[in-house]
Parts: sequence; C-alpha cells; structure tokens
Amino acid sequence: MPRAHLICKAEFCAAFRLHNPSKDDAWNRETYGICNSDSFHGHNWLMEVEVSGEIHEETGMVMDLLKLQDLVQEKLISKVDHRNLNTDVDFLAGKLTTTENLAAAFWEQLEPELPQGVQLREIRLEESRDYSVRYCGAD
Ligand SMILES: [Zn+2]
Repeated sequence: MPRAHLICKAEFCAAFRLHNPSKDDAWNRETYGICNSDSFHGHNWLMEVEVSGEIHEETGMVMDLLKLQDLVQEKLISKVDHRNLNTDVDFLAGKLTTTENLAAAFWEQLEPELPQGVQLREIRLEESRDYSVRYCGAD
C-alpha cells in the first residue's frame, strides 16, 4: 500500500522560566542564562507535527487533515497559547519547560488521539530563527 507523511503547522506564544528548583540560583543562572529570569519571559514557537500512514483507497487520504489540525489545536495549542508554561499547563506540571521537554510532552498528549493506523513521526518546535528541536518519540 502506498504511504505518505502529513505535516501540520501551528504556532503559539507563551511565557515561561527555566529554573530547576533542586539546584541553587548560581547553577540555574549559569545553566539557563537569560531564560532563568525571575520575571518570566516569552517566546513565539512554530510547530510542525508529522504523521504517516497508508493512503486509504476510498478517501485518497492518510487521515483528514482538518481532523489533524483540530487535534493539534484542541490538545496542544489551546493548552499553551498565551499561557504561562510553568504554572498554567497541567501536562507540564513539575517539568523543566525547555523546548525539548515541551516537544516530548506534546508527543505524549497527541499520540493516543491519532486514528488507528496513523503513526506520529515527529514534532518539531522552532523556538527562534536559530534554534529548533525535533522529537521523534522515546527510545
Ligand atoms: Zn528564553
């Protein structure tokens, strides 16, 4: 059966602070630099979600792209957009809000929601023009 990859894009902005409470202030400043700011700060993230599966003969589609966009909006974007990632997002509670951890947490949220036969392949989060993270699932 022919297979294809679908890619859905979205974006969000949020406030956060990188701070590991089990380490002292000097370690946190040294490790996270300006992203350790006491007053939080914001980023605008661009996200790409990639899934793959067989192209169904009756529909000519792997899955309905609008359904994928709805899932990304409902399960991910609506939870983080214009929020504080350290305090407002239940699935990030107790986690260091790095872009790596964000991508892994998004994967955990989205994967169980996909239709049968559709595999999550990659979540890419671009935190700035110069820096992005690709997450392809746990080993
Ligand atoms: Zn930052």
